[in-house]
Order: sequence, then structure tokens, then C-alpha cells
Amino acid sequence: VVNSDAYTSFGGRSDRGKSAFNDRGYCNICFGGGTGGNSRWVEESRDEEDWSKPLSPNERLEQELFSGSNTGINFEKYDDIPVEATGTNSPGHIESFHDVDMGEIIMSNITLTRYTRPTPVQKYAIPIIKTKRDLMACAQTGSGKTAAFLLPVLSQIYTDGPGEALQATQENGKYGRRKQYPISLVLAPTRELALQIYDEARKFSYRSRVRPCVVYGGADIGQQIRDLERGCHLLVATPGRLVDMMERGKIGLDYCKYLVLDEADRMLDMGFEPQIRRIVEQDTMPPKGARQTMMFSATFPKEIQILARDFLEEYIFLAVGRVGSTSENITQKVVWVEENDKRSFLLDLLNATGKDSLTLVFVETKKGADALEDFLYREGYACTSIHGDRSQRDREEALHQFRSGRCPIMVATAVAARGLDISNVKHVINFDLPSDIEEYVHRIGRTGRVGNLGLATSFYNDKNSNITKDLLDILVEAKQEVPSWLENLAYEHQHKSTNRGRPKRFSGGFGARDYRQMAGGGNAFNNRGARNTGGHGGNRGFGGNKGYYGGNYGNYGGNYAQVDWWGS
Ligand code: AMP
Repeated sequence: VVNSDAYTSFGGRSDRGKSAFNDRGYCNICFGGGTGGNSRWVEESRDEEDWSKPLSPNERLEQELFSGSNTGINFEKYDDIPVEATGTNSPGHIESFHDVDMGEIIMSNITLTRYTRPTPVQKYAIPIIKTKRDLMACAQTGSGKTAAFLLPVLSQIYTDGPGEALQATQENGKYGRRKQYPISLVLAPTRELALQIYDEARKFSYRSRVRPCVVYGGADIGQQIRDLERGCHLLVATPGRLVDMMERGKIGLDYCKYLVLDEADRMLDMGFEPQIRRIVEQDTMPPKGARQTMMFSATFPKEIQILARDFLEEYIFLAVGRVGSTSENITQKVVWVEENDKRSFLLDLLNATGKDSLTLVFVETKKGADALEDFLYREGYACTSIHGDRSQRDREEALHQFRSGRCPIMVATAVAARGLDISNVKHVINFDLPSDIEEYVHRIGRTGRVGNLGLATSFYNDKNSNITKDLLDILVEAKQEVPSWLENLAYEHQHKSTNRGRPKRFSGGFGARDYRQMAGGGNAFNNRGARNTGGHGGNRGFGGNKGYYGGNYGNYGGNYAQVDWWGS
């Protein structure tokens, strides 16, 4: 009768299920006012029950959660992705999900998701988290990082039970308050990513007493509060909305044992640092050491290093090779297209590459996204768009239509597309090139992911001169065809520049890893900040060029002052 989605509140509403028991094994009976403010909340504790034992199956829910689990990702290619773990006493990695004891519930949910073996980040992160170590992992969306933290965290919660969090919630309930004390908090930058994590959490908490919840901005807060009040053991949240919930007294972090910061670099990019510090440092969250903290980030610039120093205790550092962004996987083309010719060129391109393969078109502005979507629609293409001005519901719908192939063309602004797991895009088109090379790398990383082949086409004209040199370097190092005009322009640009020899964009550090990975093993700059003009033979892949990391690998685990990515 009990599962994570089965609830009934008497006297007002009845949704999401038919049971009077929630996933914690309580009977949640709401008398009188339904979800209104004056209702009484009676909870019958069944906490003596063993959280590690699976609850009875629920066929309908099982169908809902696990149908369509096939991602179409070629996981065989995962084996080529290198991982490096550094830090004191790092546990060995696993090769199979059976190599570590994650308990009955997790194992049966892994079977239901049809994950046959761990991805590289999972092989390393799972034993690290299981041995209760803090973790800083540089890994991308698409690498399987969500399950890498959810599996060990949930399995630990199942083993340990709810502990004090349960008592606190019960105490609170006695006084008619419904503040929730999650055992685990996952912070994510965007609504879309938060929802993806939540979906994954629902799968791995199936048949358990853990109830996951998600809260994010731009959606009705009342509904989210009501959902929280039904119980929340694992909370996925965007930082702004969580602060709001805390201020309203709906969430207490006093008993949060597991803290995950996902896409930490994105969160900082989006200006969430004050909210993150408020949540982690200035409220009731247990201090580092007392909680277990895991940070995931695609890049590792200075600001992230500082956050890691402040939030993590004696952590292990994982560097996971960029998934599917090697030269064999992505063909990069740069074409000269004048502003006025972009639309007709786009049509030619779409016709040439086939209307049905998933194509993601990046534009600079929200207005531009709407206009281009209208244009394509009028030209008879099934397309959709995603940008910051669209409502949450519209964005989710657009993403769904795109993913399902109903609208195989999606026009997007960079911000709206951040952090999305769009794993089988065939073609990324930079209708408008970004001025930032890291952004370029992120965008084209949406194709050719996890072993699939991809194509990235960028429209270039004289508005894009600021990215010329970095773009050329990327193409050269990834052994792509370089148009001679681009080479000439880059040469001119470089000779005009007063700041030669040290790349401005990469002064922050680990972002450069993407760059090197992009390059299929070589990197354009050595660790002294000087350009390697001598080709790409020398600095090979992950293992080879330790100097790329400034030889400072050994310094992880606390001594950040010594990490100088460029060595000079
Ligand atoms: P993520 O990097 O967490 O966004 O995951 C990317 C995609 O890979 C998601 O659709 C996951 O459901 C899927 N995935 C994660 N781990 C595995 C695995 N071990 N085997 C198969 N698929 C996986």
C-alpha cells in the first residue's frame, strides 16, 4: 500500500495515489481543511520499520517511472573516457554495480532502469561517496553524474534510516506546522536540470520510504509547498526558490546529511553564489565534516576552487574526460555567412542534413529565438524554441516535443539550454556564435555525446571577430578542417593583439580541460601559458600531460593556493 507517490489527504483533495500512507510509513490524514491553513495533521509513526527493505511494488507507478528508460546512448564507448581520482586514501573504483553493497532497493531499481554497468564517473564516484568522503567531480551532463551521486546517497539513507530528521518533522507536525527536514539536498542551477534530477530520484526511490521533492522558481510556490508538506526526504532545488522556502519556514536544513551541488559552475555563472552561501553557511545546515558534500562542475575555475575549499572536507577530486567531445565524435564546420543570408543558409543546411534528425539551433537573443522559430514554422519545419521568457510549462513542453522527435528542430538561447540532458542531438548550429569560447565548447558538446557522432556548424561573419583566435585553436587541435579565411583573420587578430602568449579566456583553469578534450587529446596551450605551436603530438590525453594540470594534482585536498593552472 505504500510507495513514494501514493497519498491521500482526506477532507479536501486526493491526488497522486490511493493510499493513506506516505512513503515514510506514516499515515498522513488531513482533517477538515484539506490543504488549507487550519487543517490538523496527524502522523502515525511507523518509524520502527526498516528503511532498507523494499515496499510492495506498484505496477502503475513502475510503468510510469521506468518505461522509456532507454536513452539511445551508446554506452560501450564510455569505456574510453578517462577518469583520474586524486586525494588522500581514495578508494578503488568499481567495474560493476555489484562490486559495492547498495542494498536491495537500489539494485532492483538499477535493474528496472536497465543500466547494465556503471559509467566512468559512476565507477569512481560511487565507492568514494559510499565510503563517506567528500567529492569534487569535474563531469558533464550526459556522463551519468546524476546516478553517480543519487545511488550511493539513497542507498546510505536506506541503510541508516531517517534518524533525527524524522523526529524533527514529527515534533513539528504535532504543533500543526509542516516544516520539512530533508535528509539530502541537491542544488541545481535551472528548473530543467532540477526536474531531470528529480525524475531520476523518483526512479531510485521507487519502493522505498524516501520521498523526493523538487522546488524551482518561475512556478506556483503554493503547489510546491503543498507537495513538500506531504513529506520530503530528498529535496532537489534551485537556490533562489530554496531560500524562499526557508524564509517561509517550509524547509529546515538542520538534519541534512548529504549535500550535492550540481553544475556548480553554472550556478555561479547565473549569480547564485549569495544564495548558495546562505543555504550552506549561514543557516542551520550542519557544518562541513558533519555532513557529506559532493560538488559537480563541468569546469574548475578559481571561483569553484574557492567554493570547494569552503564547502568540502578532505575531499577527493575526480576529473572525468569530457563525454563524446573528441575529434572523432564531432565534426566542426565554420562557414562565412553574412547576417542577411543566415536564414536562407539555415534552410539549405536543414534540407541537406535531413529534417528528422534532432537539430539544436543557438541564437543570441530571446527575440531572435522567437523570430527564427516563426520563420521556420512558416517554412514548414516542425520546430520549437526554448528561452528565458517562455513560461516554465512552455519550456518543458518544448523540451518534450524536441526530445520525442515531434519537433526535431529546437531554437534556443544559451541560458535556456544550460544543463539540459539533450543527449542525442545530431546537429548543433550556431546561428549566432557566442563571443565566449567556453560557451562554444558547451554548445557543441550537446552533439556527439556519449559515443554518438555529431555535427556542429557555426555561422561566422565579421561580428564574430572576438572569438576568431580561440575558435581557430579549437579547430586545429581537434584536427578539423580550418577555412583559410579563418586562419588569415586569426593571424591578423593575433598580430593586432597586445596580449599575446597568454590566453585570456582560460586564465580561470579547468575550463581548459574541455578545450583539451575537445582537441582529442592535444591541447593548444601548455602549462606555462605559452602556446604549443608545434602541433598536437606532444600533449596527449588524460594520462599523458600531467603538466597540463600544472603538476599540482597532489595538492588537491586542501592546498588551493598552490594550484596554478597555467604554472606562471
Ligand atoms: P546524466 O549525466 O546524469 O545527465 O545522465 C545522462 C543519461 O544517461 C541519463 O539519461 C541517464 O538516465 C543515463 N544513464 C546514467 N547512468 C547510466 C548507466 N549506468 N547506464 C545507462 N544509462 C545511464
